[in-house]
Amino acid sequence: MNEETTHKIMDLTNLTLTELQTALQNGETTSTAVTEAMLERIVAIDNDIQSYLTLTDELALAQAQEADERRARGDDSPLLGIPLAVKDMICTEGVQTTAGSKILEGFVPPYDAFVVRKLREAGAVILGKTNTDEFAMGSSTENSAYVTTRNPWDLSRVPGGSSGGSAAAVAANLAYGALGTDTGGSVRQPAAFCGIVGLRPTYGRVSRWGVVAFASTLDQVGTFGRTVADCTAVFQTIAGHDPHDSTSLDVPVPDYEAALTGDIRGLRVGVPKEYFVEGIDAEVETAVRTAIDKLAELGAEIVEISLPHTEYALPVYYLIAPAEASSNLARYDGVRFGPRVAGVDMIDTVKKTRALFGPEVKRRIMLGTYALSAGYYDEYYGRALKARTLIKQDFLNTFDQVDVIVTPTTPTTAFKIGEIADDPLQMYLQDIFTLSVNLSASCGISVPCGFDSQGLPIGLQLIGNSLQEATILNAAYAYEQAANWTGAMAEQPL
Ligand code: GLN
Repeated sequence: MNEETTHKIMDLTNLTLTELQTALQNGETTSTAVTEAMLERIVAIDNDIQSYLTLTDELALAQAQEADERRARGDDSPLLGIPLAVKDMICTEGVQTTAGSKILEGFVPPYDAFVVRKLREAGAVILGKTNTDEFAMGSSTENSAYVTTRNPWDLSRVPGGSSGGSAAAVAANLAYGALGTDTGGSVRQPAAFCGIVGLRPTYGRVSRWGVVAFASTLDQVGTFGRTVADCTAVFQTIAGHDPHDSTSLDVPVPDYEAALTGDIRGLRVGVPKEYFVEGIDAEVETAVRTAIDKLAELGAEIVEISLPHTEYALPVYYLIAPAEASSNLARYDGVRFGPRVAGVDMIDTVKKTRALFGPEVKRRIMLGTYALSAGYYDEYYGRALKARTLIKQDFLNTFDQVDVIVTPTTPTTAFKIGEIADDPLQMYLQDIFTLSVNLSASCGISVPCGFDSQGLPIGLQLIGNSLQEATILNAAYAYEQAANWTGAMAEQPL
């Protein structure tokens, strides 16, 4: 162990996931020691950040002990003994899962989501459940019915959303990696705001079984890490076929970690002209353009491309996602899940119980119900589906010419808590660069590409064709290694 590593081990929570893997494999620390260190740090600083809704400390310590025992028996699984966080949209057996909503307060799932089962089987330690906008509807965690998470870079700002709790936890060294969900950008946008890496895999690559449904044709579980390798390690463990999810793809899982070669010579990188338009912050644009130059230096071929239906993505998403949500959320009637607010009769009970939904969820249910109602279905939902096909076709055509599409992840850096909370349109505009990935069944990753003049992180989005996660992960890795923001990103003030 060199001096630098010795020094780092002294503060175990500073290690990246892959550094921790090595330290555990070499017997330099134990899962119990790092889990205790993490829990101590959470107790010390999470009051300021509010990334966790539920801390599963006893469970985590028991899992850590089990992991140490497994290791003593010769087990060397990649995630063995590594403390992670799970977004509260994902069911955990015996551990409250609220989806950030009062309508699921006290709901304790009787089973683990497929992804959680995968983590547990791999021997990972689950520290707790992280904050989310209610039913993952939002871009700031301000729509959580419980707390607003704060951005570790500036506590007066949002961490992004909806997986803001997971992103903030990873950025503040309160977990070595985390799971989120991404329906329109909810992994990539908070990753960008918090200066970490966030991957949205292809629809069907990861099972949605046991994940609270928001918009079923768009939802996908994604992973966070402080580095591309960290994000990849968690993704490698959760990717794969699951017969319980009929949309899960039965295709082999590549060795994503082996794909991280850092060699992107000859990679064709498309820059869509529609993504560098009015409304994008000048500092974000400069950082992204500098990152594109870096990709060129690394041997990538930069090509200007056009995604002509880009302007429809936002309206299309905000019809399709609420339409699907209005249907999915019909199940919360106080009979099967969570609390029941008793009324005078059944209808009154359902009404009173459903009043537990927060304002954004109610807005979406109303929008969606309207878009699906008789007489308006063709005009709204039907047309949105047609436009979705055009958007998808744009991407398919483009992926004939290029391997990767590069864009900013978000139009701005993290905004202040309360700044746009009362303006749904401004909030929806946050998703402008991320939504098309979900609508087109592509995959996308956000990787840090610098800071603005206020010291807030900026994210670079790399988009790949369906199931081309290995390509975007390697492109992000090559960029990360060359640009070397990782050290600076680790310097967040907390
Ligand atoms: N911000 C988007 C929305 O509010 C995306 C959310 C998500 O990906 N879960 O719907």
